[in-house]
Amino acid sequence: MSQELLQSNLNDTYDVIIVGARIAGAATALLLAQQGARVLLLDRATFPAPTVSCPVFFGNSLAMLERIGVLDVVEAIDAPKITLYGLRTPEFDMVTHLPKSGGHDYAYSIRREVLDTAILERVRTHSNITFREGFTVNDVIWSMGQVVGVRGRQNGGAEQSLYACIVVGADGKRSKIARMVNAKIYDSQKSETAIFYAYYRHFAQLHEPSAITYGNQQRRHGVLVFDADDGLTVVSVGVPATEFDEARKDPEATLEQIWRAVPELAERGHHAVRETKVMGQAPFDSFYRQPYGPGWALVGDAGHYVDPITGQGINNALRSAELFAEAWSRMQRHSTWQRTMTIYQRKRDTETRPMYNFISIGERLQQIPPELGMFIGTLVFRAIARQPDVAKRFVGMFNGATSIELFTNPLNLTRIVVRDGLQNELPRLANTFVGART
Ligand SMILES: Cc1cc2nc3c(=O)[nH]c(=O)nc-3n(C[C@H](O)[C@H](O)[C@H](O)COP(=O)(O)OP(=O)(O)OC[C@H]3O[C@@H](n4cnc5c(N)ncnc54)[C@H](O)[C@@H]3O)c2cc1C
Repeated sequence: MSQELLQSNLNDTYDVIIVGARIAGAATALLLAQQGARVLLLDRATFPAPTVSCPVFFGNSLAMLERIGVLDVVEAIDAPKITLYGLRTPEFDMVTHLPKSGGHDYAYSIRREVLDTAILERVRTHSNITFREGFTVNDVIWSMGQVVGVRGRQNGGAEQSLYACIVVGADGKRSKIARMVNAKIYDSQKSETAIFYAYYRHFAQLHEPSAITYGNQQRRHGVLVFDADDGLTVVSVGVPATEFDEARKDPEATLEQIWRAVPELAERGHHAVRETKVMGQAPFDSFYRQPYGPGWALVGDAGHYVDPITGQGINNALRSAELFAEAWSRMQRHSTWQRTMTIYQRKRDTETRPMYNFISIGERLQQIPPELGMFIGTLVFRAIARQPDVAKRFVGMFNGATSIELFTNPLNLTRIVVRDGLQNELPRLANTFVGART
């Protein structure tokens, strides 16, 4: 045991130190504290604090927030309950009601400074959790090949050493903890899209609160429009990586020009006033990282990051917190760290793989001639859009109501296209034929 560790006061030693206090960190802290663990939760930010993220999250996440014991504080924000979700392009309209998932048939889009702060209010009241804001972690402390704590500074003050049995990195996709412990990325997927977004006031809502992705004719830009808390609407645009250098020169113009070029949005946003500065993110590759080692673990984006276009980050972060809390509980019942964390990793990867693989479909379509890729995509999407029950199942892939693997199975997609042909194309052809004869 290191001299430094021996000198540390026993009262300063926690069961778990969690670095990062947003979705993954706060959820992990609450779930461990409920099991009686003494938790130290650290974040370099002081809350309320925004971060680069403009999320929509769904019924499956709401069910987890309920299990964690914070759904009431999230509901109290009184954000509009988003019931309409989907994709709208000049060729098809796949906007439909969200199916029920986790007992909830709606989603929320809440600004992160509001959402994270509300959850942290609950964290602050828990006697097993010590929460220190404005604390930047700079390093991990090792003893005999095992992580035993962290070093950092409170508001830039003198360096402090803090000790725990386990250090959890919930410090986001650029995780410092992951770097310090040399956690390897073992799978990654190139991102082809940069994102720019801002919050607007006086953006006209549809007849029900909605979260809709608008595609333009060339499919070069997607525009995501979510009804958010406090009467705001968040508008984000996806820009191909090849256009990013040009787009970042003038983010305001990039954002405004792209969304205003969509006729329905030009109308909805006619009186809109931008209330925040334009935020953005360069293309950032999705990845899986080794999520544990001696004395350390990773939760949330720190361990697995998937392109924000999927709208899965919050859900994945919450779920990894739940899985880690299950692992912790198994450990208390005398399972080994290695054994229990192997299960953690396996479950995390198995549950998140289908969406991770789903986003690579676009990449695979790009490997065939673009016209053919566009043709196949339009054929399938139009067939889905014209069958309301199928459109609802498609949308259910995003809130966990539909199995992605079953829906995207080639046999199922073929069935959908054939059924559309029989229901829509065949009668149309027949009418044309009859019309031509009379
Ligand atoms: C543009 C954009 C749009 C998105 N849209 C969606 C969406 O629609 N739906 C969805 O579900 N997800 C979305 N996401 C993803 C979602 O934001 C993330 O998946 C989620 O924030 C991950 O939470 P986390 O707690 O793991 O990490 P983070 O939210 O990144 O939190 C990490 C925390 O760690 C702290 N920290 C970092 N380093 C240190 C350090 N050295 N010392 C102390 N503290 C530290 C940071 O201050 C931060 O508070 C989007 C992301 C982006 C970028």
